[in-house]
Amino acid sequence: MQAIRDAILAGAGGEELSALPLPESYRAAFVRRDEVEMFAGVDSDEKDPRKSLHVSEVAVPELAPDEAYIAVMASSINFNTVWTSIFEPLPTFGFLDRLARESTWGARHALPYHVVGSDAAGVVLRVGSLVRNFSPGDKVTVHCNYVDDQDPSAHDDSMLAANERIWGFETNFGGLADLAVVKANQLMPKATHLSWEEAAVNALCNSTAYRMLVSRNGAEMSQGDNVLVWGASGGLGSYAVQHVLNGGGTPVGVVSSPSKVALLHDLGVEAVIDRKEAGYRFWKDEHTQDESEWRRLGKDIRALVGDDPDIVFEHPGRQTMGASVFACKRAGTIVTCAATSGYMIEYDNRHLWMKLKTIKGSHFANYREAWDANQLICKGKVVPPLSAVYPLEDVGEAAYQVHRNLHEGKIGVLCLAPTEGLGIDDPGLRAEVGEDRITLFRRHGA
Ligand code: NAP
Repeated sequence: MQAIRDAILAGAGGEELSALPLPESYRAAFVRRDEVEMFAGVDSDEKDPRKSLHVSEVAVPELAPDEAYIAVMASSINFNTVWTSIFEPLPTFGFLDRLARESTWGARHALPYHVVGSDAAGVVLRVGSLVRNFSPGDKVTVHCNYVDDQDPSAHDDSMLAANERIWGFETNFGGLADLAVVKANQLMPKATHLSWEEAAVNALCNSTAYRMLVSRNGAEMSQGDNVLVWGASGGLGSYAVQHVLNGGGTPVGVVSSPSKVALLHDLGVEAVIDRKEAGYRFWKDEHTQDESEWRRLGKDIRALVGDDPDIVFEHPGRQTMGASVFACKRAGTIVTCAATSGYMIEYDNRHLWMKLKTIKGSHFANYREAWDANQLICKGKVVPPLSAVYPLEDVGEAAYQVHRNLHEGKIGVLCLAPTEGLGIDDPGLRAEVGEDRITLFRRHGA
């Protein structure tokens, strides 16, 4: 991969890259099938990705006709890599085994190791015979919706496909590596004004937030809406608040430290709640929630924006869902895509039905939504919330930071890119968007 990296750094085009031989193995971050029990009996918080994520050489798999090999210049940590690395809620090898039963190409995925990672920015190296729209040499980012396009259920909204998967979580050969194998319909153009690591962090979280808020498949946000965003400086939340601001709404961001409050103010979010400072105790004990604490949150939101939120952007799950359903405005929408603090949810159903609220489930994004969300990145209308960058060797530490909620925004991972700051092709657009805006989270994280 060194020769390929050198050629890319020297500006090689498609023909030159196509002429370079592919290696038989590549460097990748993976968990091992024979270690899925390594944290048995350990508390969730104490399960340590630094122990379970390995970086070593793995074999280059064969390429299917609808796939492309990508030279990965940079990738990012998503929470799904944390889940895989702590083997919760279940080991991801079961997903690979199920995929293996579907087809001969699927069988490649069931291996003793699982190469993780659901984001990437890089260069197309080779394409299969069925690939039409991308060629070797194209600079791309990769979204993680992995869909079998011969399945009829994939042809309305592809997120409804019966066998929809998340690449690098429910499939092998993910993005935290020097090389990745992706389907052609995961490819999108890389933003020309961003570095490799800035371009690599967006696709998963930006597309998810876009579907949840903007798409007709989500909460269909309107101008003037107040939107409560939990974890507003985190991976999902930092895109969500930008979508709300762009769409003429008012975000109310919830975070957990004064420095995160300051970061959101700098991003243009005026209404911010520090949940630690407020000291909400939505649960009195493991079994009982406290409606007066939900009410206190509601009052704090009204004090900031004068009304209840039309939309609640939910993902913490068990800890916050009761409060989210309560605080949401009459006829409003609670849109949820996750349950970081626990998936067995409790809320008071009277507040839902009597006030005609809707809970809407959402999961990643279809190709069209991911493409549209990527266009916002390409045009500089959404900036990457990249706050820290690690080399691939330190992927365990990077995942640990996310697992322990020690980070802001997104953490980038350098794969083939030797240093930060490479890959910017349009400095003019970068200047127009604003260096300060693009590097806001990085400067906070430094
Ligand atoms: P992240 O970068 O860790 O951000 C999550 C934020 O949530 C944290 O920064 C934290 O912010 C807040 N939070 C955590 N625990 C909380 C609690 N108990 N109460 C209130 N706030 C809490 O993670 P992310 O990338 O945004 O992902 C969040 C979740 O969504 C993960 O579970 C992930 O797996 C899931 N996800 C799902 C999809 C999908 O397609 N379904 C896509 C992306 C992510 P503060 O401490 O500052 O409040």
